[in-house]
Amino acid sequence: MAHIEAASPHTMNTYGRLPIALSHGDGVYLWDVNGKRYLDALAGIAVNTLGHNHPKLVPALQDQVARIIHSSNYYHVPNQEKLAAKLVELSGMSNVFFGSTGLEANEAAIKLARKFGHDRGIEKPQIVVYEKAFHGRSIATLSATGNEKVQKGFGPLVEGFIRVPLNDIAALRAATDGNPNVVAVFFETIQGEGGINQMRADYLQKVRELCDQKDWLLMIDEVQCGMGRTGKWFAHQWAGIVPDVMPLAKGLGSGVPVAAVVAGPRAANLFQPGNHGTTFGGNPLAMRAGVETIRIMEEEGLLENASRVGAHLKGALARELGGAKGVVEIRGQGLMLGLELARPCSVLTQRAADAGLMISVTADTVVRLLPPLILTQAQADEIVAILAPLVKGFLAE
Ligand SMILES: *Cc1c(COP(=O)(O)O)cnc(C)c1O
Repeated sequence: MAHIEAASPHTMNTYGRLPIALSHGDGVYLWDVNGKRYLDALAGIAVNTLGHNHPKLVPALQDQVARIIHSSNYYHVPNQEKLAAKLVELSGMSNVFFGSTGLEANEAAIKLARKFGHDRGIEKPQIVVYEKAFHGRSIATLSATGNEKVQKGFGPLVEGFIRVPLNDIAALRAATDGNPNVVAVFFETIQGEGGINQMRADYLQKVRELCDQKDWLLMIDEVQCGMGRTGKWFAHQWAGIVPDVMPLAKGLGSGVPVAAVVAGPRAANLFQPGNHGTTFGGNPLAMRAGVETIRIMEEEGLLENASRVGAHLKGALARELGGAKGVVEIRGQGLMLGLELARPCSVLTQRAADAGLMISVTADTVVRLLPPLILTQAQADEIVAILAPLVKGFLAE
């Protein structure tokens, strides 16, 4: 047995890691360096859309690596146009900027909102953000984030954010009433790190109306809930609305770092040459990963699968744990589910791993399930068969 050291003397102490090192994966299964098998209900935090070692993705990436990995944005990258056209088609929006991480897509969104304001003569633009939001860990995105643990130690925070509670249109109106500096409203359709908290469809529709009325940008962070996870390409599409700005990342490249900010007509031409850029963004390997991920998702009907298997998984969780004392709520949509317990339960990540299941616990009390979108009903049952007894045991302690 290879022993996994808890301490890493040469990497910074940024992560509370489990003492597990993974060696390889296949489909929804992972193996660690000691040969132990796990069912992956985390997908690298909503990243491995197609699971591991996908038989169509792997040869495409191998082909790409042998052709060209990176070229810089001094030259055209043909697959940027191809992936952008696809994202435009799927979102009903109009232009795309590519980056590599979620925070980078959100930084671009914040810059777009500020530029939108400055172009209208607003010198100190303000953006409405939400309680419990998570937008990343750069200085601007951690300032937009609604979690003191993420912000502590990194002040002064970036100014220009107004914070409001979720799903409360009156609070949004009150917080912005008569303020001429507001330029945008920015939120996740379903908060991921915040504990699987969903914006209601009627709220989304009302915010869309308000943004149209006030000439604000509606900016929806779909970094975690997007790319088919809820059964639509983008979670806000369940409410029949279209945002003005939409950051994407996590699942877009099925494991290869790819991020995008998609803009509708009101935001598509704000950036001019010299306003924004990034070295790795849109590189040939990343673009091939994005193009192939979407192509394979379409070929294999993974949106429909996420809806159907997600509903099955939620139903099975509700049957096993629904009425149990200490279970607060089972919520979420498609393959983005949260099981809120009445007390902090981070110990469950290690216990689940011991039992051969990868999960995460977020916001201290919420068991979060984000399996690959290729999950079958039988594998969903397997998740519940491992998880339910662990949760019951934990609640009985
Ligand atoms: C993960 C996440 C981010 C940050 O993405 P990184 O790639 O870690 O920078 C931003 N927004 C949401 C909603 C996320 O889930």
